[in-house]
Amino acid sequence: MEKNPFVFAQEQLQHAAKIMNLDANVLNVLQQPQRIHEFALPVVMDSGEVRVFEAYRVQYDDSRGPFKGGIRYHRDVSLDEVKALSFWMLLKTAVVGIPMGGGKGGVIVDPDELSEGELERLTRAYVRAGGGIFGPLIDVPAPDVNTSGREMDWFVDEFAKLTGEHQPAVITGKTVENGGSEGRGKATAQGGYFVLEEAIKRIDVGDAPTVAIQGFGNAGGNMARICHEHGYKVVAVSDSSGGVYDENGLDVPALLEMEKGKKICDLPEYEEKCIENEALLELPVDVLVPAALENQITEENASRVQAKLVLELANGPTTPKADKILFEKGIPVVPDILANAGGVTVSYFEWDQNLKNEKWTEEEVDAKLSPIMKDSFAETAKRADEHGVDLRTGADILALERVQDAMRERFGLKAAEKVA
Ligand code: NAD
Repeated sequence: MEKNPFVFAQEQLQHAAKIMNLDANVLNVLQQPQRIHEFALPVVMDSGEVRVFEAYRVQYDDSRGPFKGGIRYHRDVSLDEVKALSFWMLLKTAVVGIPMGGGKGGVIVDPDELSEGELERLTRAYVRAGGGIFGPLIDVPAPDVNTSGREMDWFVDEFAKLTGEHQPAVITGKTVENGGSEGRGKATAQGGYFVLEEAIKRIDVGDAPTVAIQGFGNAGGNMARICHEHGYKVVAVSDSSGGVYDENGLDVPALLEMEKGKKICDLPEYEEKCIENEALLELPVDVLVPAALENQITEENASRVQAKLVLELANGPTTPKADKILFEKGIPVVPDILANAGGVTVSYFEWDQNLKNEKWTEEEVDAKLSPIMKDSFAETAKRADEHGVDLRTGADILALERVQDAMRERFGLKAAEKVA
């Protein structure tokens, strides 16, 4: 079964390495993370009972800068998933050329089962367990699935207790009141939208391209809003409860106003328009945006995808076998490491502002983000076209070129035997 994301990540590395003739020494270094941290986090629950949560921090590579990557709270977190995500972060920071490396964290927990106080104690336990492995110039985490500015603010506070220093640059994705950047909340979607503006030039669409978005959280919800505001017709969105589809276009602002805690398919006004999550992926649309979880487009459903373009806001939503099927069908897939790199790019802006004690406006942030995303798409497409490969491989090649350049200088690696 196509399930282990770290196996996918390794296949991706080997594939790009072969095409670009990656230095054999660099390949050797990149086949495993530099450091893997495993924690058992004891948390006093509201009942007085102590529960122990399994958690990880994987520091994949810091040749280009401090480790960078989010912390995920989910019951399905596994070490292999965190390793894969940390490797993708390494590629992601390199593909957009920001001076940071790759890392990722995760806690095996269903956050819906915990009270706010329990979540706070869990987050603080994570910071204490990590201790000195975090720091503005060492490893800079961020939010991911089921974590947000709230958890990041707790992180900064606990880190200050440990070190005696107020160091907001130790983590990004904080609330704006607590050192977060303007524009960070929507950054992943905003960056994805800037890339979409370039990518859509490669396909044949009308004036109001249709979009289906899987996932209606931070990435998917903001993407729906931005696409809607720019004249795209958002025809389908979904969350974990299922999706809604209207070929005439959805009332995106109304859906975004949905009460917190409610699910799309609980809304009576959408009862008639409800579809299964799987069906959303197969709709006849111009653009399909997976913005939920991994392994959604697989060898089983890829042949039924009708979209003209896939833009991966989620991490790892398309399996390698599905990738091959989509490439053969002529459907370009803008890969996660590029399409969702707006989040980490604005995270880097936040870190930069914190270190300099500056505060940029949302307009300044967007103005700095746009050329980074557009240039990165152009560089990716150039490599894909030069090598006759898909955009994912093009992005991997671009990222690995940059990591290779840094490693050669930093570790004094000699140009070694090529991987032929
Ligand atoms: P989130 O928790 O805010 O939202 C996730 C959404 O997906 C929710 O609406 C949830 O109901 C929905 N969902 C869950 N299972 C689903 C399913 N089977 N089918 C359809 N929808 C489902 O998370 P997020 O921050 O939006 O992250 C989503 C994806 O984007 C993840 O893969 C994450 O790694 C990636 N990502 C997020 C950011 C960011 O800045 N938030 C940055 C880079 C990548």
